[in-house]
Amino acid sequence: MNVDELINVAEKSLKEEYEKVDEIVFLNSKKILDAFQKENVSEYHFNSTTGYGYNDAGRDVIERVYSDVFKSESALVRGQFISGTHALTVTLFGLLRPNDIMLSISGLPYDTLHEVIGIKQNPSSLMSFNVKYEQIDLLNNDFDYDKIINRVKDKNLKMIYIQRSKGYSTRKSISIEKLENVIKAIRKVNNDAIIMVDNCYCEFVTTKEPIEIGADICVGSLIKNLGGGIAPNGAYVVGKKNLIDLVAERLTAPGEGREVGPSLNMNKPLLQGLFFAPSVVGSAVKTAILTSYVLEKLNYDVEPKYNEKRVDIVQNIIFNNKEDLIKYVQGIQMASPIDSCAIPQPSDMPGYDDQIIMAAGAFTQGSSIELSCDGPVRPPYIAYQQGGLTYEYGKLGLLKAISELKK
Ligand SMILES: *Cc1c(COP(=O)(O)O)cnc(C)c1O
Repeated sequence: MNVDELINVAEKSLKEEYEKVDEIVFLNSKKILDAFQKENVSEYHFNSTTGYGYNDAGRDVIERVYSDVFKSESALVRGQFISGTHALTVTLFGLLRPNDIMLSISGLPYDTLHEVIGIKQNPSSLMSFNVKYEQIDLLNNDFDYDKIINRVKDKNLKMIYIQRSKGYSTRKSISIEKLENVIKAIRKVNNDAIIMVDNCYCEFVTTKEPIEIGADICVGSLIKNLGGGIAPNGAYVVGKKNLIDLVAERLTAPGEGREVGPSLNMNKPLLQGLFFAPSVVGSAVKTAILTSYVLEKLNYDVEPKYNEKRVDIVQNIIFNNKEDLIKYVQGIQMASPIDSCAIPQPSDMPGYDDQIIMAAGAFTQGSSIELSCDGPVRPPYIAYQQGGLTYEYGKLGLLKAISELKK
């Protein structure tokens, strides 16, 4: 069978999987539309402020819409957050004080947070301010309940930290159901610790988000799922009002907090991006499902399988050899709308320990809701593919990547 035939057959077999995705897209679209209408989003909200950014009606309505969508008391949605890493950093520094203990219960956090926490030495890390860090690894792709309950019973803990998406690890991503179970178990023995969730890549893949199942604060990037490919940068933090206020005081300045921060012509793209996000996430998930199905048929290991319940938009292909990883990633770049003649090579990146190869032919630099594929160049040579603003562009990317692989 040639590649076109293989994809045709795949699409016929995947009808049922795609219908499940469509249902989720519909429910999340309804969530967005209801929020826009409840908050009476109006044309004047597209205006924006400069300078200090006092009285930015558009910015404020966006934050109310985010609160509705996440069922949270409060939200901070700002272009002044440079990235997901920055929003996570500001949140951690906003909430933790010297001698506080932060406990990660989902194992080692995302690579770029190692220097933020101090797992990798950095003179500006949380540890350099005497914040303590502890970690409990996952056990068989779920939480290690015995260890967690034992540790959190001792109330001397400021924060419990959970990262849902796998990052550059080989574990599975954490479903909302698993998250809900662990939060319930923690709350039976500890009502005080702040439960913080890194929600990057997980938004709108299912119909529930972390705050509504008991998390206190939750963070994600706008150049991933929620920006819908339209937000030019930024990130969000949602959760309890007292916590969001502390994060805002760290983002700007104590005493100024959320009252400042000009939206600089970003209100309309942030609203429009959120409006498109359910559908764009649906396209990304379908692209991932198709990729999983086809590459499995081509005898590569994949995670998740095409018919597994998805938690995030990330699809792993475990190549087990360096050349195939590089060829596949280069193929994705060749199929990109932007910089299609660039040929990605493994290279050093700030915040990452291994060399990374990265296909990112995107309208927005570093955007990984657009079709993108990257991975650390180390065994077992896993490609982390995500995104696809439309399913059709996702499919075209996959076709090109496979033809490169077959060369
Ligand atoms: C992408 C990602 C981050 C960091 O986001 P950037 O916007 O790239 O800084 C953090 N955590 C997880 C799980 C991610 O996937």
